[in-house]
Amino acid sequence: MSESSASTAATVSGRKARRLRDYEWGAVVPFVAVHLMPLGALATGAHVRDFVVCAVLYVVRMFGVTGAYHRYFSHRTYKTSRWFQFVLAVLAQSSSQRGVLWWAAHHRDHHKYSDTPRDPHSPIQHGFWHAHVGWIYDHNSETNHARVRDLAKYPELVWLDKYWWVPPTVLGFAVWLLFGWSGLFIGFGLSTVLLWHGTFTINSLTHLIGKRRFETTDESRNHWLLALITLGEGWHNNHHYYQGSVRQGFYWWEIDVTYYVIRALAALGLVWDVRKPPARVYAEAERARGRKAFADLAAPTEGTGEPPRKAA
Ligand SMILES: [Zn+2]
Ligand SMILES: [Zn+2]
Repeated sequence: MSESSASTAATVSGRKARRLRDYEWGAVVPFVAVHLMPLGALATGAHVRDFVVCAVLYVVRMFGVTGAYHRYFSHRTYKTSRWFQFVLAVLAQSSSQRGVLWWAAHHRDHHKYSDTPRDPHSPIQHGFWHAHVGWIYDHNSETNHARVRDLAKYPELVWLDKYWWVPPTVLGFAVWLLFGWSGLFIGFGLSTVLLWHGTFTINSLTHLIGKRRFETTDESRNHWLLALITLGEGWHNNHHYYQGSVRQGFYWWEIDVTYYVIRALAALGLVWDVRKPPARVYAEAERARGRKAFADLAAPTEGTGEPPRKAA
């Protein structure tokens, strides 16, 4: 294990900011600066096209977060070529959420230690704000390569992880060249802020609000609105129960835009081996539905006995 890996392991083993002064406030400056960018439009004004750029960059980059950082790099739920893997990495990092190795390593820790003291971002353990954003500035900037050996064997990904700021910087510069200052403030700045907080709701709110279909060992939940704003990531209890599936909305009524896009990429031959939930997952979902129906029936006659927790 490298020195940086060891220090990251020490970090995830429990050292957490307990007081405001324990956070890395120096590193917060660029984060705050991007939040202030949209205010620049008060001086320049804004065009309809700036908001169109904002919407497009939100949706495309949210796919980069969900389809690339999460479902490809963190969970390897589908396969692709080496060149398209690099394209996915650049797209993911254009969202300015650090490198693909850093993102995947921390996300794998989230599943390994979910809602325990070693979870990097558990609202159950460390509160809403720490899970939403504070954890990023809680001495978590190192990439634990031991957790992402499968990705660290590609030098181009290691390079991109180290210089993670290159894709978002190039994108911001391109938007400024094409659409001017108001394009930069609204098209790039506002969409980046919305994209960040949209993504962060998965670490904070999806362990707090919504319904639990599966009795996982963590507090993960499914919430339709969070699924809409994150292109399918709101089906978080489904995902915690079965992480190996590209598809996170397990039924047609569980809207999962990321899954539809990956299906389209598969139809084009750009990705393949798109993994879906196996029959046993649907069987457990049916058993859970039965248990809930039974519990609802038993509820009016409370006191006559506990509704069964498990199907026979
Ligand atoms: Zn995950
Ligand atoms: Zn989670």
